[in-house]
Amino acid sequence: MQDNPIKIAIALGANLGNAAETFQEAVARLEAAGVRHCRLSALIRTAPVDCAPGTPDFFNAALTGEWTGSPEELLHLCQELEIAAGRPRKHGINQSRPLDLDIILFGDTVLQTPELTIPHPRARRRRFVLDPLAEIAADWAFPEDGMTVKAALDGLKG
Ligand code: ATP
Ligand code: CA
Ligand code: CA
Repeated sequence: MQDNPIKIAIALGANLGNAAETFQEAVARLEAAGVRHCRLSALIRTAPVDCAPGTPDFFNAALTGEWTGSPEELLHLCQELEIAAGRPRKHGINQSRPLDLDIILFGDTVLQTPELTIPHPRARRRRFVLDPLAEIAADWAFPEDGMTVKAALDGLKG
């Protein structure tokens, strides 16, 4: 355990079940597991991209909070919550799921291991990640170059 709380940002996604309820439940479980000062953005709805025909729309949101454990501990917690929400342990890329939790930012940590890359490598090119995150953490900066969430989002819009 680290002593200092680290500011973390997580992207939430779902396209099966009641996403709003699933996200509230995820926040409650994260708080119960030690994530403090959780703040959840509004939900946005996005049509699926690169998915099988008939794939339901995705709902996305972002949350920020503070965590005193390691990045790996946070990942394992997220994976537990995904499974608790009914996600199969193995599934295909872009397959429908009741809950997806991706760690976007973990303080100023830059990390690349076989199981975990931080910041999330695809976050900066995804409006469905940056839009909700900008609502609650516009000024947070990506540690590699200091670009803020809002600037990254503006870049995608431009
Ligand atoms: P994408 O990562 O492009 O959004 P996905 O969320 O559908 O795709 P998953 O199947 O949920 O992909 O995750 C695959 C693996 O990604 C996980 O088992 C996990 O080990 C790894 N991973 C690497 N970096 C991260 C991160 N920052 N947050 C969550 N999972 C990560
Ligand atoms: Ca994802
Ligand atoms: Ca994921």
